Amino acid sequence: MRDRAQTVIVGAGIVGVSAAFHLSELGVTDILVLEQGPLFETGGSTSHAPGIIFQTNPSRTMCRIAQDSVALYDTLEVDGERAWYGVGGLEVATTPERMEELKRRQGFARSWGIDGTEMLTPAEAAERSPLLDPTMILGAYWVPTDGAGKGVKIVEALARRASEGGVSFEGGVTVTGFDVRDGRVHAVQTDRGRVECERVLVCAGIWGPSVGALAGVPIPLIAVQHQLVWTDPIPELADLEGDTWAQQPVVRHQDFSMYFRQRDDHFGVGNYRHEPIATPQHMIRRPGGEMQPSLMPFTPEHFELAEAETARLFPALAGSMQPSDPARSINGMFSFTPDAGSVVGESAKVRGFWVCEAVWVTHAAGMARQVAEWMVEGEPGYDLAEADANRFYPFQTSAPYVRQRGMQQYREVYDIIHPLQQPTAPRNLRLTPFFERHRTLGAEFFTGAGWERPQWFDANRDLAQGVSHEWARRTGWMARGWSPTVGAEHLATRSHAALFDITPFAKFDVEGSGALAFLERVFANRIDRPVGSIVYTAALTPRGGIRLDLTVIRKDEQLFRVVTGGGSGQHDLTWLRRQLRNGEQVRITERTGSLFALGLWGPRARDVLAAVTEADVSNEGFPYMTARYLDVGEVSPVWAQRISYAGELGWELYGQIAMGRRVWDVLWEAGREHGLIAAGGGAFDSLRLEKGYRLWGQDIDTERDPLSAGLGFAVRWDKDFQGREALERIRETGPPSRLACMTFDDVHTVVMGKEPILHDGRVVSYVTSATYGYSVGRGIVYGYLPAELAVEGTPIEIESFGVRHAATVTNDPLWDPKGERLKV
Ligand code: FAD
Repeated sequence: MRDRAQTVIVGAGIVGVSAAFHLSELGVTDILVLEQGPLFETGGSTSHAPGIIFQTNPSRTMCRIAQDSVALYDTLEVDGERAWYGVGGLEVATTPERMEELKRRQGFARSWGIDGTEMLTPAEAAERSPLLDPTMILGAYWVPTDGAGKGVKIVEALARRASEGGVSFEGGVTVTGFDVRDGRVHAVQTDRGRVECERVLVCAGIWGPSVGALAGVPIPLIAVQHQLVWTDPIPELADLEGDTWAQQPVVRHQDFSMYFRQRDDHFGVGNYRHEPIATPQHMIRRPGGEMQPSLMPFTPEHFELAEAETARLFPALAGSMQPSDPARSINGMFSFTPDAGSVVGESAKVRGFWVCEAVWVTHAAGMARQVAEWMVEGEPGYDLAEADANRFYPFQTSAPYVRQRGMQQYREVYDIIHPLQQPTAPRNLRLTPFFERHRTLGAEFFTGAGWERPQWFDANRDLAQGVSHEWARRTGWMARGWSPTVGAEHLATRSHAALFDITPFAKFDVEGSGALAFLERVFANRIDRPVGSIVYTAALTPRGGIRLDLTVIRKDEQLFRVVTGGGSGQHDLTWLRRQLRNGEQVRITERTGSLFALGLWGPRARDVLAAVTEADVSNEGFPYMTARYLDVGEVSPVWAQRISYAGELGWELYGQIAMGRRVWDVLWEAGREHGLIAAGGGAFDSLRLEKGYRLWGQDIDTERDPLSAGLGFAVRWDKDFQGREALERIRETGPPSRLACMTFDDVHTVVMGKEPILHDGRVVSYVTSATYGYSVGRGIVYGYLPAELAVEGTPIEIESFGVRHAATVTNDPLWDPKGERLKV
């Protein structure tokens, strides 16, 4: 075995080999792939997956990655044996609710570029899947390019091509440790000796947490057992001719958490309809035993319901599901993470330590291409925030958290998940000092980054009762996770004032003699401004995409406060720290957990604040986009920033978390006579969208640049910054698409995001953000439109649950376009 390689890949399952292939395609060939099992039927999860691919996914990134995988698998063969069968995919509905969900899924497919999808009647579905009983279903969703692949053949084909490029593969070698010094990996230790290397890519599937632990890197996933039965032969399939490996569509019966596929003269029946059975790392075997190490003994008691349901949906399969060969019934293990996302990227803890974990066959080749691009070009082609290995807060990598959330992901794998659906456990992990006050006010909580956050307050119900607007009568899907009180809180913020608990915003202090130069280098806006200035800025990728957006406040000559969203906090912090150069005199400190934050916003905000402080809070004394210390009651000091996500006059107030409640109480008392209310996340989102504030991860991400996003005002061309060259090129040609604001023509229509946008009957884009604008009295959507369509007055349509709604491109923002309300 070689004793050095530039890149060592751990694991020769479908992910590791796909990564080796893509790296070699990008010109990196000094690669050694180490595999503890035999090549290439290694005994890992890939060895017994039925290889089914349903590409439709609510995530744009994951859907495109699945399409990329299919495109590659479709080109592969081993000695004339094909690896991919694009037999089409049917997702059937047995309930009206699922039927609606399938229409929503078709919307995702249309938004994310899957062509040729159809909604089918039961009879049409049965024409394509002849053993399906059409009387059992209400209809089906059809994707012609879905299908099934031979996992191990895909691996073999890719390995051959990678070998031709110079990549080496070694089976029967177990990685036992890593030489990590000075924060980076130098070598891999194995049971067959040491391999010097510059970087490692861990593709160890369910063994990931153990392999990561060898380098001190948490990989938060659990191995869950999943049932698959290959039936006995079925007489109805005896006469298939030609290549019989897959001729009939793959079928999903999500109302019962099951899937089916024909293989030769029998079926594979997959079952998630049982309590999840997690296997702890120490119980996962090594290769070499009687049973492949990613298999556990079959548990027939968990298959009983599935067997009965199969016999109903596919009557021909009745009696075939206790196969004579016991090896045809398996509990196979694969990875589940706390948020169902993959875990991909370079560890923030150890340089040169890359991971590509929790990836299905569906996404393997596509995700491997992304990680290969990231390793070679410094950036993946797609925005991978949702798969970023560094997105987890430390508590989210703890064993109980990973276990609870991972098991829940298994339970929900085929569930209809509403965008506002909240996990029931674990809850109450991170509480702000206002939590008890919120409870008293009847908060409806949602959770983000572990924080409990109010969505709206029951105490404001009376405000809503006086409201006669049509929006107050929302029903069905759009009414879930919503209350008319949301609208009432929105309106009360615009007419009086509201307190928003923004403690979950992530806060970092960047300080030191090199802090200013550092921030000027990484951010596109001018940071060198007088002490007390607030700057909104983006940091860019080398391609000019928006890596993150946040506000930077100059607290002192060499001290800057950075405030960003709670959801992206870990991502932003890790990235910022990674930008530091050796010897740079800059210290970055996380402050989120030690500081409370409150938004006091609305036209009466000044009256409330003036009543509790001696400080001059007049417009002249405390102008917009400035910050300073003041006292609030006896709480001192409170750091006040004159900025507002609601698009109204107001301040953000920060202080020691232990004194937060006092600040709340003092403001609350003073606010009585000014109509102050507590308001939640529902109102917040609607206020911000009316004002046109972009949300990172929805309206902007690494695939969107500031010019397309309408954020050119936050780019300073008179300075140098990362990503400038790429942005200059975009500026020269003009962005081909632009983020546009649209409103529905019918005042009752409202959607939730991700819906396809059509022009002249053709899908031209998708909705990035959507909500109801309670002040403007219309449903609002944002989306990127081809530049020629992104002009006021362009008629477009938004398709939601299969129904098209007329909308019109309008001015952006809708609310207070000159920002006058902020500056009074
Ligand atoms: P693996 O294939 O497990 O490869 C990881 C490799 O790392 C293993 O070969 C292991 O031996 C090696 N390794 C681990 N530790 C070490 C070490 N210390 N030293 C050296 N080598 C090491 N996905 C779909 O998309 N569609 C499906 O229909 C589908 N059905 C499934 C059905 C079942 C029953 C199962 C079990 C899984 C299914 N999956 C499906 C999931 C899919 O199979 C997996 O997500 C995918 O195969 C994971 O690929 P991988 O390369 O990450 O892991």
